[in-house]
Amino acid sequence: MPDRLLGLLLFLPIPLVLGLFTRAPFGVRASLGLGVLLMATHRLYARPFALSRAGRRCLWCGGVAGDGPRVQLEEPSGPSTWRACAEEHRDSLTRVFGTADRWRWFLRIGILGSLALFLGGALLAAFGRLGPVTFADMSALFRLGVSLTALPYGLLAAALGPRTDGTIRVPFPVHIQALIGTAVMLWLFRVVGTVWFVQAVLLVAKWP
Ligand SMILES: [Zn+2]
Repeated sequence: MPDRLLGLLLFLPIPLVLGLFTRAPFGVRASLGLGVLLMATHRLYARPFALSRAGRRCLWCGGVAGDGPRVQLEEPSGPSTWRACAEEHRDSLTRVFGTADRWRWFLRIGILGSLALFLGGALLAAFGRLGPVTFADMSALFRLGVSLTALPYGLLAAALGPRTDGTIRVPFPVHIQALIGTAVMLWLFRVVGTVWFVQAVLLVAKWP
């Protein structure tokens, strides 16, 4: 099976987790439990898959890298080497990762902070411990927090980032975006960020 198709299949747990978290189709406790399980185990198979193809796939577009330029990263877990299909795509990678490094606290608080707040708050709401605040309210807050982070990053990261020839420090592991290509991931940030922002605002507007 081609790398692109396999990568897409291995990426599917991510939207599945987001669907479980925001819609809780199996009830709050079972949906959140399943989502956390999928999230915790994703790295076990996604990272080896991405790393085994790091030398032959372009980390920017997900296409065949050939003998394109190498991309040296310093991920939270240590150094790793990836590849781009052309100098132009290496440039784009250094810019978005450069922005991620500059914005690392904004991204951590926006994504991980929203997630932690949501998981704790959604469980408390499910047990009726948050008074009038419901699971739907927590879900809207989660979507608002993530969209306020993902949208500016998706729109501005490539334009604002610095260009560098050296090793790039990245504040998050890159194997998830390597599955589908960083360019597609940025588009998802823009599209899902916009949809979630609108959904959250519409829900918040109904609050008393
Ligand atoms: Zn490329």
